[in-house]
Amino acid sequence: MYLKSIEIQGFKSFANKLVFEFHNGITGIVGPNGSGKSNVADAVRWVLGEQRIRQLRGASMQDVIFSGTELRKPQGFAYVAITLDNSDHQLSIDYDEVTVSRRLYRSGESEYMINGSACRLKDINELFYDTGIGKEGYSIIGQGQIDKILSGKPDERRELFDEAAGIVKYKRRKAIAQKKLEDEKASLVRVSDILSELE
Ligand code: ATP
Repeated sequence: MYLKSIEIQGFKSFANKLVFEFHNGITGIVGPNGSGKSNVADAVRWVLGEQRIRQLRGASMQDVIFSGTELRKPQGFAYVAITLDNSDHQLSIDYDEVTVSRRLYRSGESEYMINGSACRLKDINELFYDTGIGKEGYSIIGQGQIDKILSGKPDERRELFDEAAGIVKYKRRKAIAQKKLEDEKASLVRVSDILSELE
């Protein structure tokens, strides 16, 4: 699996539609200070479902939408799509190529898609669990993040190892099953209360 392309439109400093294509080997993005290099990494974090605006270096989620310049009007929405080669089927989806996209309007309305079909954020999270790519993954190492990992709490560091070991999805499923069990127990208590009232 590898990143084939990133399509950006109206996201941060990228007003016009722009497509970055990546090929085998190493690709570097270079440019003067403030030209938008980090915004490319932010775009990838965002499309993978990042909800914490501070991680995207903004104050509110609408800050990711191109806010205009002296020469250009602000945009009405931000759009990012990433396409991954999945010919090794590391992502458990029946496609050799996977495109994940996210769009956000100024009204706050937003949509996620996987290969052109609308989906929930949850579906995107589940697609990337244990691949290292998800928003909690280690495929994007931001400035200062290595320091944070080294000096972080053991629990936080553990999350990184869980992801690398491929057990995050099982932990999530366990948490969901435990929640269901708790709900069922509460329902049983209620049923026995009703039964004793009827007796
Ligand atoms: P450096 O090399 O200094 O780290 P960089 O190339 O990584 O810089 P970025 O931090 O990616 O640059 O981009 C910063 C630029 O993006 C700033 O000029 C800022 O005004 C612009 N920018 C950020 N958000 C928006 C937005 N919503 N609308 C328009 N421009 C934006």
